[in-house]
Amino acid sequence: MLVVGAGQMGGGIAQVVAVSGRRVSLHDAAPGAVERGLAAIEKSLTKLHEKGGPEPAEVLARIDPADDLVAADLMIEAVVEDFAVKEQIFKHADEVLPPAAILASNTSSIPITSLAAATSRPQQVVGMHFFNPVPVLKLVEVIRGLETSDETTQAIVQLATDLGKTPAEARDLPGFVSNRILMPFINEAAYALLEGVAEPEAIDTIAKLGFAHPMGPLALADLIGLDTCVAIMEVLHHGLGDPKYAPCPLLRQYVQAGRLGRKSGRGFYAY
Ligand code: NAD
Repeated sequence: MLVVGAGQMGGGIAQVVAVSGRRVSLHDAAPGAVERGLAAIEKSLTKLHEKGGPEPAEVLARIDPADDLVAADLMIEAVVEDFAVKEQIFKHADEVLPPAAILASNTSSIPITSLAAATSRPQQVVGMHFFNPVPVLKLVEVIRGLETSDETTQAIVQLATDLGKTPAEARDLPGFVSNRILMPFINEAAYALLEGVAEPEAIDTIAKLGFAHPMGPLALADLIGLDTCVAIMEVLHHGLGDPKYAPCPLLRQYVQAGRLGRKSGRGFYAY
């Protein structure tokens, strides 16, 4: 298997694949990104080992750093949420991976059908959308593009199950199910903050205790990455054509300031 993108999601995906006993190649275009990804995986595995998880060194030995895309029976792409970047990767993967290979994307919102159109095998292109943190959360949203075959969908449903996850199928409409519900929730929380309805801590406490969510929407946005949230909202906004999905100006401003959430050390909160 090949995972492309060694950020928080790609690293997490490579980790669960390796924990399951499979070998996985991990590629990232940014210098040092695979090393940083492996260090994050080691940290996560060490924590899990204390709770009875597998030996970290054995799992890490199944992850092979790769300088470029390599041949594999399945690619899971988890690079930045940018159509042009993903499109290039799907074009390149179509050349490098064998004709029978499945090309999956972990995209949060980019149409699977448009990634499929960049390849000569649209029936083997599918969405395999994991949730953050990947080693902990059980859901995999499986998204069928317009031409995704039953065989491809079934193979991904089976793989998700084999990785200890619970698959749920969705059609290829903007934001699929998860982000069509989640992003308006986060956006409304950002508006509540912008309009001075409450402080961030109060907004998140209300969601945590009032709705029994494990974390509030602003803390969750910081975990996802505010840049990723804005990118998803743009796809919802343009894809569904409804202004109600447009990102809150405060979110855009934080991204302009480099306040991307946990990954940059500051978002709605300081880390
Ligand atoms: P991230 O910023 O942590 O990592 C993205 C990685 O992609 C970086 O390491 C970057 O160097 C790499 N990259 C960029 N261009 C590349 C290229 N051309 N080739 C190879 N690598 C490249 O982002 P993330 O949070 O891991 O998100 C990755 C994907 O997962 C996005 O599509 C996002 O929408 C999706 N996703 C994110 C979350 C979340 O909570 N963050 C949840 C589900 C899905």
